[in-house]
Amino acid sequence: MPDTETKQEAFTLTPENYYSDKANVLYLSNSLFKSVYGTPAAPYPCEAAALLGEKERTEALLIGGYVDAAFEGDDAFKKFVEDNESDLKLKSGKGFYQFVKDADRAIARAKRDPVFMSYLAGEHQKVMVGEIAGHPFKIKMDDYQAGVQITDLKYVKSAGEEFNEFLKRRVTFVENYGYDIQGAIYREIVRQNTGLVLPFNIAYITKEDPADFGVVTIPDEMLKDALEFVEMSLTARPMALVRKAPKRCLRRSCKFCRDQQVLSGPYTYEQFEARAKT
Ligand SMILES: [Zn+2]
Repeated sequence: MPDTETKQEAFTLTPENYYSDKANVLYLSNSLFKSVYGTPAAPYPCEAAALLGEKERTEALLIGGYVDAAFEGDDAFKKFVEDNESDLKLKSGKGFYQFVKDADRAIARAKRDPVFMSYLAGEHQKVMVGEIAGHPFKIKMDDYQAGVQITDLKYVKSAGEEFNEFLKRRVTFVENYGYDIQGAIYREIVRQNTGLVLPFNIAYITKEDPADFGVVTIPDEMLKDALEFVEMSLTARPMALVRKAPKRCLRRSCKFCRDQQVLSGPYTYEQFEARAKT
């Protein structure tokens, strides 16, 4: 598609236009990849919901951004609070919601730990672009220490194992939410830009009271497997095909497909039963 290539040359990705519609059409990102292709622990998401559905603004996303901003710096934090004031502050105007106060407590606790903080002492929200399996990718790193390491900050429910229904076993949050895939993509794009293969860490803080926190380096093997998964997924079904005709998953649990459904007649009881499992 020479047309797309020309457009891409004229567009320079910056931290400001990173989330723009144009950037999202020109580049794949970790989050778009996962919402279209899934992860080994959560395979087969809904392509139609990922591309055509409304972007959900969940409390988890909002507070994740809040915690990221708190570690990014005073200016970034002030701006985030200003931009999201109506969602963070009580309607009465008197102070913040409890989930924001809980985050403040967790942030303050982690900030008292020098080792934790040393992993977040690099360049914040560093943007880079590259290519995986012929697909242009963009990344935005929470913390980038050139030549040393990449660290992503996560504010999670807990660091305890969770049961994964697809894998039928208990897994860590890293595996459950595909943070190894994120690490694989980040590391590969940094390698293309610098020639260096860097360690990828997750610095996590939990929503528990008191908060648990830690830093974990994702093993090389896990990152290699995850990169292979990304390459195989993109080769098997290139993004251009997905964009042309995104498939609906037709699952009962999919908000997008539920909203779009048109009945063609009654279900047989077997069909109804099968749908109940989806
Ligand atoms: Zn669906």
